[in-house]
Amino acid sequence: MEENQIQARLRHVAGIILIAVLLLLAVGIGVAAFLVNSMVEVTNSQMRAETEEYKSRLNKQISSDFQILTTMSSFLEFSDVEQADNFAQILDESSLRNDFVTMAYFPVDNTGIVAIQGDPVRTSVQVTDMQPEVQDVVYRTWNGETVLSYLFESELIREKIFVYGIPVEKNGQVVGSLIASDQLEIFSDILSGDTVLGGNGHIHMINTEGRFLIRSQNAIVQEDIETIFEGPYFSDEEAERVQAALAAQETIYTSFRYKGHSYQALLQPVGINNWYMLCVNSMQESSGIYRIVMVIAVTFVGALLLMVILLAYGYRLTRHSNQELHAMAFQDPLTGGDNLRSFMLRLTETMPQSGDVNVVALNVHQFKFINEIFGRERADRLLCHIHQQLSGHLLPEEFCCRDNADRFFAVLRGTDAGQVAERLNQIVEEICRTALVNHSSDYRVMMYCGMLSAAECAAAPQDINGAMTRALFALERAKNANLSTVWIYDAELHKKEEIDNYVQSHMHQALQDREFCMYLQPKIDLRTGRLGGAEALVRWLPGNGRMLYPDQFIPLFEANGFSVSLDLYMVDCACRQLRAWMDQGIEPVPLSVNQSKLLFFEADYIPKLQQIIQQYNIPAHWITLEILEGLALENAEELNARIEQLRKIGFHISMDDFGSGYSSLNTLSRLHIDELKLDRGFLMEVVNQGNIRSRIIMEQVVQMAKRLGICVVVEGVETRENEELIRTLGCDFGQGYYYSKPIDTDAFTARFWGADQGKQAEK
Ligand code: C2E
Ligand code: MG
Ligand code: MG
Repeated sequence: MEENQIQARLRHVAGIILIAVLLLLAVGIGVAAFLVNSMVEVTNSQMRAETEEYKSRLNKQISSDFQILTTMSSFLEFSDVEQADNFAQILDESSLRNDFVTMAYFPVDNTGIVAIQGDPVRTSVQVTDMQPEVQDVVYRTWNGETVLSYLFESELIREKIFVYGIPVEKNGQVVGSLIASDQLEIFSDILSGDTVLGGNGHIHMINTEGRFLIRSQNAIVQEDIETIFEGPYFSDEEAERVQAALAAQETIYTSFRYKGHSYQALLQPVGINNWYMLCVNSMQESSGIYRIVMVIAVTFVGALLLMVILLAYGYRLTRHSNQELHAMAFQDPLTGGDNLRSFMLRLTETMPQSGDVNVVALNVHQFKFINEIFGRERADRLLCHIHQQLSGHLLPEEFCCRDNADRFFAVLRGTDAGQVAERLNQIVEEICRTALVNHSSDYRVMMYCGMLSAAECAAAPQDINGAMTRALFALERAKNANLSTVWIYDAELHKKEEIDNYVQSHMHQALQDREFCMYLQPKIDLRTGRLGGAEALVRWLPGNGRMLYPDQFIPLFEANGFSVSLDLYMVDCACRQLRAWMDQGIEPVPLSVNQSKLLFFEADYIPKLQQIIQQYNIPAHWITLEILEGLALENAEELNARIEQLRKIGFHISMDDFGSGYSSLNTLSRLHIDELKLDRGFLMEVVNQGNIRSRIIMEQVVQMAKRLGICVVVEGVETRENEELIRTLGCDFGQGYYYSKPIDTDAFTARFWGADQGKQAEK
């Protein structure tokens, strides 16, 4: 799988997991928010219930206190309030019974009587001697109002108290003011503050300016502050909102921050003197549920975070190992560049689309030597240098790779093979110039290259493997030619090499399978114009409809010695054919068989020949052995001895291709041969170039042969003129396309002994 695909999949999976995580997170946050909201609501309603409770307790106490005062005032209506002692006693008793701190009666514009708990009753007290808050109540009741004062600190008892006052009337006229001061029981609850919200809250009393009237001892804000707006606990907007609500005597839920925590609070008007109850909830700090919710939320978020971290880690790990895999699959570990696989992938993408791709293979001369002499490390450095230089010289759309060892491939662009090769030469020159294998030695690195031109690539643009193979083939040629330049791939040459390869690897099997066939080319008697003989010429039919000609394999067989076997096989074929003709009642003609030099000097050559002719019971004179002139050059004596032996048995000896090499009349005179075959080239020279000298030489050769009793055959007779010429020159036989090309034995038989002639032969 491609790196991109893997990454896309990873991203896909990571995306899905991330979405799942985010969804879970959203659900978690939602649940937590719901729980917290529910808790806030519960707390709010609890706070409201608590403050309502306090409010009703307060109202109850106040109204009961007023009730007492009202009862006393009606009593005073009918008493003689002037009898101070008597009244003072009543007042004192009443005060004691009702837990009032003080009680007092002030007749209008007169001195009054004041009873203080635990103190003797005071009489003739001037209103003006009283605290201003008390004076205010007295004056207002004298005016007929029922009054409840603000809280204030009593000078007498040094506690916060407030004062009730009701007018005392007689006959519809206000005659005095009955007042009582009290420390409401609720205030001590507020002060101690341990009953509010089950111990998790506090209630303060404030006025509409936010000033504390009664402040709980357990207040969350520890600092000594006068109003709720002091300090940075309310945000500016919240402070404004609260102030507006207070002014409008509205109930408001609010919150403030203290020491990093947020607290809920409720401000509820009491309905008396514009007093407010401020209920603060400290539950968020202490509540078990809240803590559980928070612990759950934190654990949840923590788990999600852990998941995300694990996911990221897993992603990184996979990515990393993927990159490593990718590097292993597509990178050359030594140079860090592309490897062959990667190169081939790019070539597969590029070659079919562009007609200017030249595939180049490069190698270092004697790299094995460099490795051994200078050590592996230096050799590796050299390879890295080559890669670096090579890739540095490439144009944007070109690329290269190191395959293995010292073999590199590159793609160069350009349609002119000559120009590309020239550029490649320069690159290689530069690589070699800058490559220092060893500082102390002046060893110069040499490289050779094979190149498959753009034209060759474009001929088979899909065949990537073929292109690489052909570039390597060219590389091999460059190596064999010992070139330090570029060898451009040659299709013809490659084909020949392919055939050579096939020939070498299949020859033995082919001989076994009788893929070698004997074709016959007639030799025509120039005096009669009749068939005078035939030459056996081998053809290789590999079985796929193809036919290989002798020049495609005979030179190889001569080099590797296989011609020995093949030539004997051909003698066998000739004898078999002669036997077939004879058995058909056809008077045969002599068959000439080409004999290679190797075979001719084989120790058991002659016995083998004898064995074959005996096997088919063929008289030896039906077989002519064609030998090459070159044989005589090396050892004429030995050759003559062989020829003598063979002739004694009855074989005819023909010298083939005379005039193609170092022909010498001297050799001719020394060899005891029966026939001389003038090479086709000899005739060509005389005919085509009208060469008088050649004609004279040919004439001389023919005459000399005649004088020596040697029969003369001319090869390569292609026209009637050719025939005329050789007849004029006195030659005996002609062989060539003019008469027939080499044909298979069936065709040959049919041609020369067709049905009728065959019958004649039978008679
Ligand atoms: P060769 O023995 O001189 O055979 C004559 C060659 O000239 C044959 O080619 C034949 O086809 C060709 N030839 C004949 N007439 C004409 C003509 O008018 N014009 C032209 N252009 N060519 C003509 P082939 O069959 O390809 O054989 C080539 C050579 O291979 C032979 O030359 C011979 O030296 C060798 N050869 C063929 N068969 C055998 C064999 O069985 N054993 C050995 N050792 N060599 C063989
Ligand atoms: Mg021949
Ligand atoms: Mg010949």
